[in-house]
Amino acid sequence: MTSVLERFLRYVKIDTQSDPNSESFPSTAKQRDLSNQLVVELQELGIEDAHLDEHGYVYATIPSNSEKTDIPVICFCSHVDTSPDVSGAHVKPIVHKNWGGSDIVLPDDTTQILRIGELHDLDQQIGNDIVTASGTTLLGADNKAGVAEIMAATEYLVNHPEIKHGAIRILFTPDEEVGRGTEQVNIAKLGANFGYTVDGEAVGTLEDETFSADGVKITVHGVSTHPGYALGKLENALKIAGDILAALPKDSLSPETTEGKQGFIHPTQIEGIQEKVTLGFILRDFTVAGLNEKEAILKEIADNVLINYPNSSIEFKVTEQYRNMKEILNQHPQVLENALLAMQKAGLNPIQRSIRGGTDGSRLSFMGLPCPNIFAGEHAFHSKLEWVSVQDMEKAVEVIVNIAQIWEEKA
Ligand SMILES: [Zn+2]
Repeated sequence: MTSVLERFLRYVKIDTQSDPNSESFPSTAKQRDLSNQLVVELQELGIEDAHLDEHGYVYATIPSNSEKTDIPVICFCSHVDTSPDVSGAHVKPIVHKNWGGSDIVLPDDTTQILRIGELHDLDQQIGNDIVTASGTTLLGADNKAGVAEIMAATEYLVNHPEIKHGAIRILFTPDEEVGRGTEQVNIAKLGANFGYTVDGEAVGTLEDETFSADGVKITVHGVSTHPGYALGKLENALKIAGDILAALPKDSLSPETTEGKQGFIHPTQIEGIQEKVTLGFILRDFTVAGLNEKEAILKEIADNVLINYPNSSIEFKVTEQYRNMKEILNQHPQVLENALLAMQKAGLNPIQRSIRGGTDGSRLSFMGLPCPNIFAGEHAFHSKLEWVSVQDMEKAVEVIVNIAQIWEEKA
C-alpha cells in the first residue's frame, strides 16, 4: 500500500476552489495553500528543486537514477483547484470501507445518495473502499486524486531506487477548472519531452483525443429608429438575433442532440439593444474540417436571416480556442504506447477513448508537450456525489511508476 489515501484525505480538506470571475492569477489565493504544502512535502521526500513559482505553479524534479543518458524527460501533471460549481470549503471526506453495494447516503444532506444504476462505474466497485464527501460539498477528487497519486508515486520512486527511470518532472497547475490552467506554464523551464495529465475518470482509461474548439462572435448591426416613427425603417437587431437562434438546427448539431464523435454549434451568450446585439457561440468538433463546416453552416444561417433585413449587417468573428491533441499525439506514438503498456503491466485492460471537452493536455500538446490524459479514478466530479475508490487510486500510482520505468527501459 502506498501513501495515496492518506495524502488524498489531507489534500481535499484544503479549500482550493477557483473563480471564473477573478482576473488575478491564480484566480484565488487559497489555491496556494495546497501548492505550498505540496512543495514542503516534496522537499521532505528529498526533491530539492521543488518550488512554487510566482504564478502559483509547483515545479519539481525526481532526478534520473539511470546510467542511460538519452531517456526522454517525462512530466506528470495535475491541477490543484476545484470546480466553482460546488463548494469545496470544509470538505469532510468519508471512507466507506469494503463497500457492499448498498446505497451510500451522505450524512450532512441525506437527499444526496450514491446509488448503483444512477452513477456509472459504481457497480464495478463492490468490495472496494469508496471515498465520498459528506453531502454539502464536492469531494475534490477532480483533481486531488491525481495530485495524491503523483505524490505517492514520487514517494514510491524515491524509496525504491532499484526502479530505474529518467528525470521525471512534476507540475501542479492552478485554475484548470476556469480554463486558465496552462496560461502561465513555462514550457522551457519545465524542460520535459512528453507529459501525462493524471485527471481522467475510470480505472484503465487513456484519453488521447479532445474536441477542437472555436468561438464565434456574431455582431448584428440593425437600424434603430424612434418606435413611433419606425414604419418601413426599423430593423431591430434583437429580432434579427432571435431569428438567427431560431434558425439553428433543432434536431442535430447541438450539445443536447449529439454524442460520441459528433460536434455542435452552441449559443452561449446574448447581449444587446435594438441597434446592436452580440451573440456568442462555441463550436466543437473532433476535426478542424468539421469545425470549418460548422462555421460555414452558422455563417449561412446568419446570411439567410439578413436577406429579410436589407439595411442591417453582421460581423462574424472566429477565435481559435484549442485543438484536438490527437493531431500532435499521432506524431509521437510512443507516448500512448508506453501508457498502454504501463496499464497492462498493472494488470489493467486499457480503454483508449476521447473526451467531449478540452484538457490542460490539449493546450500543453500544442505548446510543445505532447500530453494525453490518464485515469485518476475520479467520478461524478463537480457534484456533491463525487467519489473515488482507494483501489483505483492505488492502480493509478502503479501506472505512473510503470510509465516512468518503461520510458527508461525503452531508451
Ligand atoms: Zn480535472
